Amino acid sequence: MTLSTLETASPALDLERIRADFPILDQEVNGHPLVYLDNAASTQKPAAVIDAIGHLYRHDYANVHRGVHELSHRATEAYEQARGKVARLLGIGDEGEFVWTKGTTEGLNLIAYTWGQANIRAGDEILLSVMDHHSNLVPWQLLAQRTGAKLRFLDIDGEGRLDLSALDDLLTERTKLVSIAHISNALGTINPVTEIAAKAHAVGAVMVVDGAQSAPHLPVDVPSLGADFYAFSGHKMCGPTGSGGLWGRREVLEAMPPFHGGGDMIDFVELESSTYAPLPLKFEAGTPNIAGAVGLGAAADYLASVGREAILAHERHLMAYALERIAEVPDLTVYGPRDPAARSGVVSFTLGDVHPHDIATILDGEGIAVRAGHHCCQPLMRRLCVPATARASFYLYSGTDDVDRLIDALHKARAVFGY
Ligand code: PLP
Repeated sequence: MTLSTLETASPALDLERIRADFPILDQEVNGHPLVYLDNAASTQKPAAVIDAIGHLYRHDYANVHRGVHELSHRATEAYEQARGKVARLLGIGDEGEFVWTKGTTEGLNLIAYTWGQANIRAGDEILLSVMDHHSNLVPWQLLAQRTGAKLRFLDIDGEGRLDLSALDDLLTERTKLVSIAHISNALGTINPVTEIAAKAHAVGAVMVVDGAQSAPHLPVDVPSLGADFYAFSGHKMCGPTGSGGLWGRREVLEAMPPFHGGGDMIDFVELESSTYAPLPLKFEAGTPNIAGAVGLGAAADYLASVGREAILAHERHLMAYALERIAEVPDLTVYGPRDPAARSGVVSFTLGDVHPHDIATILDGEGIAVRAGHHCCQPLMRRLCVPATARASFYLYSGTDDVDRLIDALHKARAVFGY
């Protein structure tokens, strides 16, 4: 595709209308209209989400699952309806398989502590990849340290795609668990998790998908990915911070011991022992993040109303445009797959030997918010032989005009640093 053939207006979304839904976008930063390109870290919230949280606190708030009074009924209904909305968005038919968490990190730790502690023994192997986020590395390191299990890693190729040629050798009868990011937050690479899950199952391993970056960007039908667990974060998909979920196959969740103990997760408590509530409450101890759940439910409604396929088409179009335009900037190295359809949401880059923090500071002066650093992927940065990258990441309200502003600012940055 060349610039002459690539339309700058996305055919999929009415961008002006979408942007009007996000109040925060309508402001100047450092004297320039804000361009928010830090969506892989966290996304902005539409008025529908902000209003749903405000409405709960103004009209319907009380604790859930406990009271017989009207407000507790209303809060419980809003909370459980939200579970249904998010489950439906992700294709999850059995709401018992949907556990509220405060995000991907908590979901992955839940698996490591409960399933891991019950099933992993000394000498067992856990397969991860060098591109994984610290949230999908450290919980397994801790589990391996507690149990004597061994961690093994899939490498990447020159374009930042998983090197699957080693997969058959890495998967053995010792492999008990495989955990891989669906989309890399540092490279944007979309990983073939369904193919990996099939191979993991063939050796009897359990498959975990870190869905932090795919739940926001891909029209994922979670159960049909073929995995056993899928963890995601609400704040990366227009929802509030501290909201998120973990999907697990019912029979796997049923067989797992609880995570936290406390109120709401029990059936019957005696002084010395307890029996536990049915799924999903068994994994939801204590007063939950009620407003977070309600906000994420509103975010799910919002994303469904825009259309998951339309968001994907819009982002694909934008990624093709961004990759083409960024290639115009001399001295820039772009990481990740060259094929725009093989990546999602993220463009990571370095400019000569300028530290990415300095690039991000210049861009901030132009009103453009990007991330610079290791993106919680220190092993990947070492694998790429860079201390850090600058990362522009898109969402449904991003447009080709944002990319144009980024490119202009990168030309300015080159001039500032004497390129
Ligand atoms: N996994 C990936 C791929 C991520 O991008 C992130 C967040 O950036 C996480 C896990 C952790 O998500 P959270 O901090 O919302 O728990």
